[in-house]
Amino acid sequence: MERRAAGLRAAGAPSLCLAIVEAADDPAAAAYLRQIERSFERHGLATARRRPDHTTQAALGALLDELGADAAVHGILLTQPLPAPLRLDQALARLPVSKDVEGVHPEHTGLLAQGRPGIVPSTPLAGIEILKAAGVELRGMSVVVVGRSPIVGRPLIQLLLLADATVTVCHTRTSDLGAWTRQADVLLLAAGRANLVDGAMVKPGAVVVDFGINVVEDKLVGDADFASLSEVGGAITPVPGGVGPVTTAVLARNLVELAERRTA
Ligand code: NAP
Repeated sequence: MERRAAGLRAAGAPSLCLAIVEAADDPAAAAYLRQIERSFERHGLATARRRPDHTTQAALGALLDELGADAAVHGILLTQPLPAPLRLDQALARLPVSKDVEGVHPEHTGLLAQGRPGIVPSTPLAGIEILKAAGVELRGMSVVVVGRSPIVGRPLIQLLLLADATVTVCHTRTSDLGAWTRQADVLLLAAGRANLVDGAMVKPGAVVVDFGINVVEDKLVGDADFASLSEVGGAITPVPGGVGPVTTAVLARNLVELAERRTA
């Protein structure tokens, strides 16, 4: 990825820059943003935080327009959740698609839903990259996803279908969660509930990717009860240190991809 960024610079492109639009003060988002800034710095990529002048849809839209027109900005990350009364659907529709580094613009989500991925949200893609790097073959596997949010669960489902997995999706209306999770060869947790799944809820030898980030007694934990699950599962990603660092690397790769498309 560094080689691709260097190639762009050699071809005369300015240093790549990600604009981070912060519409609210959110402590969890702030920690994530610091992680992105540190990771981007290591990759030789710039970041710039921006705030709309007011907490209004018009001010947020104006900022997105300004960043869209700024040739020095190669990607835009809109932090979520947005504070009331801002509407995410309206903000995403205003996000310039050519700078949508998180693949959240309706054009990108539509392409992914059709099985023609363009820019893909970094967190679910990081989970798939981890499974690939670990040599986990998804084709024909029974994969259970817990969570169906637009930013993690839903794109994950699409990526799993593209990899020919047999996918089951669980959410808050699922009854008897354990009955479903116990069927999984690969279990993907994206609920944001500490200790939601313990060792009794997984098939022996199952591979577990934990996307959850929860704060319990000032410590970060995932959705899995890590200790009990480690005794039963075949492999499990830790929290912190599992999906998170790969997510920021994928985000950096998405930025390079957007910049390459611009120069193509
Ligand atoms: P979200 O928007 O709150 O969605 C949570 C999903 O989990 C919803 O679909 C919800 O079901 C489901 N869910 C919640 N409680 C459940 C339960 N008890 N049983 C079954 N399903 C349940 O959260 P998100 O943005 O997708 O994030 C999910 C987690 O990933 C969070 O912990 C977040 O911090 C973390 N995250 C990590 C990264 C990273 O880089 N590692 C990046 C982004 C997010 P309903 O649809 O029925 O409400």
